[in-house]
Amino acid sequence: MVEELEKKYGIADRRVLKAMLDIPRHLFVRKHLWAQAYGDHALPIGAEQTISQPFVVARMSEMLRVSPEHTVLEIGTGTGYQTAILAKLARRVYSLERVGELARAAIDRLRSIGIPNVKVQAFDGTVGWSEVAPFARILVTAAAPSAPKPLIEQLRPGGRMVIPEGSREEQRLVSYRKLRGGGVRREEGEAVAFVPLIGRYGWAS
Ligand code: SAH
Repeated sequence: MVEELEKKYGIADRRVLKAMLDIPRHLFVRKHLWAQAYGDHALPIGAEQTISQPFVVARMSEMLRVSPEHTVLEIGTGTGYQTAILAKLARRVYSLERVGELARAAIDRLRSIGIPNVKVQAFDGTVGWSEVAPFARILVTAAAPSAPKPLIEQLRPGGRMVIPEGSREEQRLVSYRKLRGGGVRREEGEAVAFVPLIGRYGWAS
């Protein structure tokens, strides 16, 4: 899987490729899906949600440009697979999941594979996590109609956010950079298809 990410998709960030080698993806899906866990596709995880395609996890992680000293906020924990990758790249990861049962399962899973630097909570991530803000990096792994304002506010100067923006059916990966003077620079990347970001600053339902 990791060789394909590098050769076929041109993922070049060595730290991202190493993190994806280190984290066993099959442990994040149900047993009957283990045989498919290293193929390049999204898979169902219950509660009508999916674990993202490995290429999309790799590309988002690469676009985010995470350093070992960074504090990262993730919205949309899902299985915790992307959370585990971020935890390998950053100092500390805070992750928010709207569906309580997914958050609980992710907490157990991350603990059982021994990932210590992660904190997961169950609430609407579109409002951010003001108690532990600001963040050097923010990653949103569900599809937003536009970037939630609280998330831009909770980025520290020089910080970056990556988020799929568009309609409910198709989106583009968008990267935001908060400039030291307070302005924001926006850059569009490739086309993706995520499940919707549902919440106060996302889709209504
Ligand atoms: N990154 C995950 C997959 C994410 S699927 C993985 O690696 O497994 C998108 C997730 O976002 C779903 O679990 C969904 O419940 C969650 N979600 C949707 N809206 C949300 C919101 N407002 N706040 C937090 N999580 C949300």
